[in-house]
Amino acid sequence: MSHPEHLVTIASGAKEDEDRRLRERMARIRRRLVVVSGKGGVGKSTAAANLAVALSAHGRRVGLLDAEIHGPSIPKILGCEGASLISDGQSILPAVVRDRLERMSVGFLIANKTDAVIWRGPMKFKVIQQFLSDVAWGDLDYLVVDCPPGTGDEPLSIAQLAGRPAAAVVVTTPQELAVAEVRRCVSFCRKAELGIAGVLENMSGYVCPQCGVHTGLFGAGGGERLAREMAVPFLGQIPIDPRLVGCGDAGTCILDTHPDSPAAQGFVDLARNLDRWQDLWHGSPDEAFVSETEQR
Ligand code: ADP
Repeated sequence: MSHPEHLVTIASGAKEDEDRRLRERMARIRRRLVVVSGKGGVGKSTAAANLAVALSAHGRRVGLLDAEIHGPSIPKILGCEGASLISDGQSILPAVVRDRLERMSVGFLIANKTDAVIWRGPMKFKVIQQFLSDVAWGDLDYLVVDCPPGTGDEPLSIAQLAGRPAAAVVVTTPQELAVAEVRRCVSFCRKAELGIAGVLENMSGYVCPQCGVHTGLFGAGGGERLAREMAVPFLGQIPIDPRLVGCGDAGTCILDTHPDSPAAQGFVDLARNLDRWQDLWHGSPDEAFVSETEQR
């Protein structure tokens, strides 16, 4: 079992100091994308990791924070299990995964990956605050946060601490059951005053790699219907692709291994659309960033 003692307090101090550090760190991040889902197993972590990779391939500087305290999966998906926290004495250093992409996971706090983490709400808030304020994220265009499924302490802490502009990407599958959970998720974002980028439908049919025929295995159109019903944008569909499972297990990325696959292209399109979508980032302090995006 992991205990709070495992938490590496690099720069503990008075609350005002902590708040100042958080403000200073977050001021160097232009945009936040918070990836959420109503329930587990819909491909939220897969979407967060691939979206982060696609944004970095698009030329953006990206940080990826895995806030899944109870079951961090980003280290495995990105092939960096077993990494440990490194500090320069002042800050925790994020690991550089590839050009322009760095990541940090609460998983690194857990000594043994089979350990169960039992932390109550205030401790989770504290851990997330520390990951936002004590990790040397540097200047980023995007911080992509992989939240645990549901509407618990972690997404609420992110919504309160990460600053603005921030927008949630709500991941679902086309099944009715998943769609019902997402309604709660969208309403949570509204209550937490977290902007909603929209709904991403994952595992949206199977495209045969041989013949290209599309089969709707888990129903069809649930995400799009839900988006319409909840009056939020529909961000697109990522098909079922067994190669995504292989990549997740091997710690590789489908954007590298099969860049022309519909799944990889889905993440590329998602990243480009989110990046150039001015209305979503309206109020972003850095207008130069938007015009720079428009020139691409
Ligand atoms: P969550 O974060 O919602 O719990 P994960 O991202 O861990 O879900 O994905 C759950 C499983 O589904 C993993 O094995 C992952 O590789 C697989 N998966 C995710 N998206 C797809 C997809 N589009 N096609 C095939 N497998 C997928």
